[in-house]
Amino acid sequence: MIARNTGFANLTAGYLFPEVAKRRKLYQESHPDAKIISLGIGNTTEPLTPHITKAMVDYAAGLGTAAGYSGYGDEQGLTQLREKIASVLYKGMAAADEVFISDGAKCDIARVQTLFGPDVEIAVQDPAYPVYVDGSVIVGAAGKAAGDGSRAGVTYLPCTAENGFFPDLARVRENSLIYFCSPNNPTGAASTKEQLKKLVDCALAKGCIIIYDAAYYSFIRDPSLPKTIYEIEGARKCAIEINSFSKLAGFTGVRLGWSVVPAELTFADGTSVRQDWNRVMTTLFNGASNIAQRGGLAAFDEEGIRETTALVDYYLENAALMQKALTAPNFASAGVKVYYTGDSPYLWVLFPGYRSWDIFDRILDECNIVTTPGSGFGPAGEGYLRFSSFGHRADVVEACARLAKLKL
Ligand SMILES: *Cc1c(COP(=O)(O)O)cnc(C)c1O
Repeated sequence: MIARNTGFANLTAGYLFPEVAKRRKLYQESHPDAKIISLGIGNTTEPLTPHITKAMVDYAAGLGTAAGYSGYGDEQGLTQLREKIASVLYKGMAAADEVFISDGAKCDIARVQTLFGPDVEIAVQDPAYPVYVDGSVIVGAAGKAAGDGSRAGVTYLPCTAENGFFPDLARVRENSLIYFCSPNNPTGAASTKEQLKKLVDCALAKGCIIIYDAAYYSFIRDPSLPKTIYEIEGARKCAIEINSFSKLAGFTGVRLGWSVVPAELTFADGTSVRQDWNRVMTTLFNGASNIAQRGGLAAFDEEGIRETTALVDYYLENAALMQKALTAPNFASAGVKVYYTGDSPYLWVLFPGYRSWDIFDRILDECNIVTTPGSGFGPAGEGYLRFSSFGHRADVVEACARLAKLKL
């Protein structure tokens, strides 16, 4: 018989979201009348916007005609879309032939792991989006978790209230692949130019490559904050940026993203990383959906930008309502600390004296609200809950009213 890929055996059982779903289901079964509201999801809830929808509908209708039909396109993406992203977002900081269109950021993170293989050292923020480490475990770049939560091949970089959710980079080992997400899921922290300069300088000094996940860049409202790593001098020599239309335009189900691999980026032997990435995209991928790419094009024209800005604003308004509820006296008097700066869909909330799963259960039981336990994103998330602003306004308003009655 064929031996199992040891990477799968090395994964930690009990992935966060299935456990959340299980507890929700058990609660609902024992309380059939409870109207549970979820503030736990990282999934968008509001409809696609009209201009973007129309672009996809029109293109799809064309595919049903002889004149409008097209089959495979370029694996790297539609030239027009690559050019649009380069000009609208990167404004000379990256060129169209450095932008690769994908079926989403998570898929690109998985493909990045094939690019670097099983021997690369990993450095990752703690807490972090689970895919960075789990994907590394599957390809063998990260080992089995030890009893203390550490893993061979992985350096965890704690991001805590004490360090302003920006890690101590002295811990980063030479020649590591550094996964860095800003604005961050789950902490919501959006790094400043000065912080990212430190990150880039660290990567350059230690021969590292940064995998910069900018999936939430569209939530940045503070004009002083960088929206792409390439705003930082030197980043083109040490960073790949991974991005997505999912949170920007509600494309979580449509599926569209992009990655930027600058021409200057090389491996130790001098090979161009972009050359190998092109090989990955043409070999393991066959191009993003042509319908989705028309939606992506529309998202970056004037009307599309107006629509997506309003769409993101809607979620930011939800976040502001939650911030207000969670900083009210019933929470403040219990020492609850809300970390939120208005540049992310997530509020990162510390409940002193509680473990994450305990306060999760209490809020589910007393408010019928589902949140996400911070400890599921890494040991430094213990004691925190993540509140997501992805939800319908009426549900958020109702959830806030219930939170106002909670006595901690
Ligand atoms: C939602 C999310 C993504 C987006 O992934 P897609 O595959 O493009 O939907 C990427 N990174 C982080 C941190 C996310 O939370």
